[in-house]
Amino acid sequence: MYGLMMDYPLLTPSLLRFAAQHHGDTEIVSRTVEGPVHRYTYRDAYARTQKLANALLRLGVSQGDRVATLAWNGYRHVELYYAVGGVGGVCHTINPRLFHEQIEYIVNHAADRFIFVDLSFVKLLESLQTRLTSVQGYVIMTDQTHMPQTALPNAICYEALIADEAQLFDWPQLDENTAAALCYTSGTTGNPKGTLYSHRAIVLHAFGLCAADSAMALSSHEIVLPAVSMFHVHAWGIPYAAAMCGAKLVLPGPNLDGQNLYELIESERVTVTAGVPTVWLGLLAHVGKTGKKFNYLRCINIGGAAAPLSMIKTLEEQYNVMVVHAWGMTEITPVGTTGRLLPKIAELPREQRYQFKMKQGRAVYGVDLKIVDDAGTALPHDGASVGHLLVRGPWVASAYYEDAEASAAAFDEDGWFRTGDVASIDADGHVQLVDRSKDLIKSGGEWISSIDLENTVMTHPRVTEAAAIAVPHEKWGERPLLVVVTREPAAVSAEEIRSFLKPRVAGWSIPDEIVFVEELPHTATGKVNKRALREIYAKRSSLTKA
Ligand code: ADP
Repeated sequence: MYGLMMDYPLLTPSLLRFAAQHHGDTEIVSRTVEGPVHRYTYRDAYARTQKLANALLRLGVSQGDRVATLAWNGYRHVELYYAVGGVGGVCHTINPRLFHEQIEYIVNHAADRFIFVDLSFVKLLESLQTRLTSVQGYVIMTDQTHMPQTALPNAICYEALIADEAQLFDWPQLDENTAAALCYTSGTTGNPKGTLYSHRAIVLHAFGLCAADSAMALSSHEIVLPAVSMFHVHAWGIPYAAAMCGAKLVLPGPNLDGQNLYELIESERVTVTAGVPTVWLGLLAHVGKTGKKFNYLRCINIGGAAAPLSMIKTLEEQYNVMVVHAWGMTEITPVGTTGRLLPKIAELPREQRYQFKMKQGRAVYGVDLKIVDDAGTALPHDGASVGHLLVRGPWVASAYYEDAEASAAAFDEDGWFRTGDVASIDADGHVQLVDRSKDLIKSGGEWISSIDLENTVMTHPRVTEAAAIAVPHEKWGERPLLVVVTREPAAVSAEEIRSFLKPRVAGWSIPDEIVFVEELPHTATGKVNKRALREIYAKRSSLTKA
């Protein structure tokens, strides 16, 4: 027997319409590429989004067409999120930091019909455009005054495109499983793979971000600044969730350096933000140097890579900013687990509490997790068993876009998605990520968690960032090599680091080789690029002692 409830589809434009109706005066503030800070309200955003939707139809965008963006976090990008998906198209956000060949690959693989591009990336597209075979036109996300001379064919100015359109649009009643957005992984191995998000997945994920006990607990009382890019998994879904609850949205534009972020956080009274650890290293360096404090910021969501203990402690103890550690992936829209403490853990002494803060949190409702051994047998959630982490749920991908080979490898016979991460799960559901399986260091019979080693060395007061990678070794198969960035040059010696590690990690984890560098390489999504490090240091194996 079916329930007698309306079959009312969950479609993304309804989020912005709701914000316009119920939080019409709440602002969206953007740092623009052109220079000034732009501010308008959800009411204005919805009106312009409807104009854009009309313009897209005039351009000939029809159901299922891919329309790409190459843009920073800004208000026009928000309008595109809603308008492209809303008319039945697919908003394909491209990460401009990818290698140019990868951008070419994904535009052609997605067969994008139009690309909307910020001024910053016009030159980049000019250099690629002859090879972007599916693209019929380019829309430059600026006004007439800033419209550049460009070699891009059929280039249109965004403001001119929407200027004469009607402010009302009759959104089609799409099936909620219709694709709304597309985002490619950064392709740290092989070609980038496309995750094709449905309207339903995006809306349900936004509920997850607004739930009080999970994720970001967004509400109309919060002012949220996504310090993660809108070209990377929808800035973790924040532009959708902020509209769902009417949170003021602050979009930082191109500059995520410490000073710019700090100024925006203070001037717009931001209360909650989210991003990868590297961004917070920059922010902490800025406030450390200038002696500034946070007057409004209450919560930082750290994810995308492990949050080091030293960072969590500094933010909470010195700056009174709560850290919520989260884990997710492009394929999970992206939030899977978040680290708001259970009541019984919040009561624990501080040092014990930190042990839980360092874990990756517990599943958000809707996300189902399990760990399995190499044979695929489920392992107990006892906090000790370590296995491959698998996930399923309403906002987890079911396949990669037009990539049967990658899909076959990534999903098991029951449809669970293989995350590629190795983890333990305790009886309360706390997930502790041991490593990405490809980053684990297998030394003799033992596994060494690169995350664990990095976190431990980063508690050294003179170390700012560190990465551990496996290098081949004759006797042990692999040995860890540690690459370290220190506060000042030559601030600490390899021997001192080894002595520091000795009482803190298992003997076999202590690296034979420690290299000091000024800066670590980062990926297109701001994480430490271990592949690049492996390429640089793999040859070092000959140096390590048997
Ligand atoms: P990519 O980094 O390849 O662009 P994703 O952003 O989807 O793609 O990265 C997802 C991966 O990032 C996860 O599988 C996991 O290995 C890592 N990750 C995400 N959050 C955390 C976290 N809190 N701690 C450790 N690793 C994390």
